[in-house]
Amino acid sequence: MHSFNLSTLGEFGLIQKIRKMIGHPLRNLKVGIGDDAAIFKMTGKDVLVTKDMLVEKVHFDFRMATPFEVGWRAMAANLSDIAAMGGWPYFALVGIGARPNIPVERIIAIYRGMMKLASRFNCQIAGGDTVSTPGPLTISITVIGHPLGKKIFLRSGAKLYDKILATGWPGKAALALKENKLSRTVPRLEEIKYLSRKLKINALIDTSDGISSDLTRVCEESKVGVLIFEKNLPIAPEIKRLKRKEKLDVILNGGEDFELLLTTPEKKIDSLISHFKKKFDIPLSVIGEIKPQKYGLKILGTDGREEPLKASGYEHFRS
Ligand code: ADP
Ligand code: MG
Repeated sequence: MHSFNLSTLGEFGLIQKIRKMIGHPLRNLKVGIGDDAAIFKMTGKDVLVTKDMLVEKVHFDFRMATPFEVGWRAMAANLSDIAAMGGWPYFALVGIGARPNIPVERIIAIYRGMMKLASRFNCQIAGGDTVSTPGPLTISITVIGHPLGKKIFLRSGAKLYDKILATGWPGKAALALKENKLSRTVPRLEEIKYLSRKLKINALIDTSDGISSDLTRVCEESKVGVLIFEKNLPIAPEIKRLKRKEKLDVILNGGEDFELLLTTPEKKIDSLISHFKKKFDIPLSVIGEIKPQKYGLKILGTDGREEPLKASGYEHFRS
């Protein structure tokens, strides 16, 4: 058999293969592979579970981030996946793989970072695992949470002509990373708690790989297409100084933001948008619209031209 390696298959190709091997969710598993978190029913209630890993030299470097910031970032990615289901975190389990010669203070500071962020949302570390490794420092976190309301928001729920809304400043964290800084982002848990009460939400995802890649996930799971409006993209002050091409690249393909992208069928949302801005001090922008699947992923430029958009966000093994 012809054998090929992960750099050919890519992260998403590998996950697709694993997903096929495992098959459809069984028994009380309601959602398995394919969303920001899995959902299962336990004693009649829905439970959310998610896992996200952070690896030294891949996601961060101790020359660009303090251990506290590394811990914060590791927890942020996981809490954001719970926010991206319309949920709230309960507990976290933390696995650490470290070299024997690492200073103990470094691990303690990583825990301070994780705990500082998690405690903001009343989430506590309930356990984990610790191993020695010859490789880079690895942090693997599992977070268990619960839905906030009756509904859980999936990547697969987008409907034709829904508006696509984005919280905050996509691209900001990616630009900081280019300048060798790790952003101390706060997952949008409070924001989705608010929005889920005020708005009918059809689909929800967080921006971990970049808008173009994350919206491609929504297109695949919902079997729809997307048109992005360039004129509506929120441009963070530090991004304003970039040239158009770089600006679009950082906003559309930069990951790490942990902003939320949601789709809604509601038309009258102007007052909600202005209320949101006042309450959270970040924008809520209508960045696009859901189209039929055959449309693919396109962007309507400020010059009035529609162009196809490639999913060019971060993918492990390829970058
Ligand atoms: P996110 O960026 O939101 O963390 P990922 O792209 O990492 O999501 O994962 C997409 C989906 O694939 C999720 O449902 C995740 O649980 C699943 N997944 C990722 N890696 C594996 C793996 N090694 N084995 C099984 N499922 C996986
Ligand atoms: Mg996610």
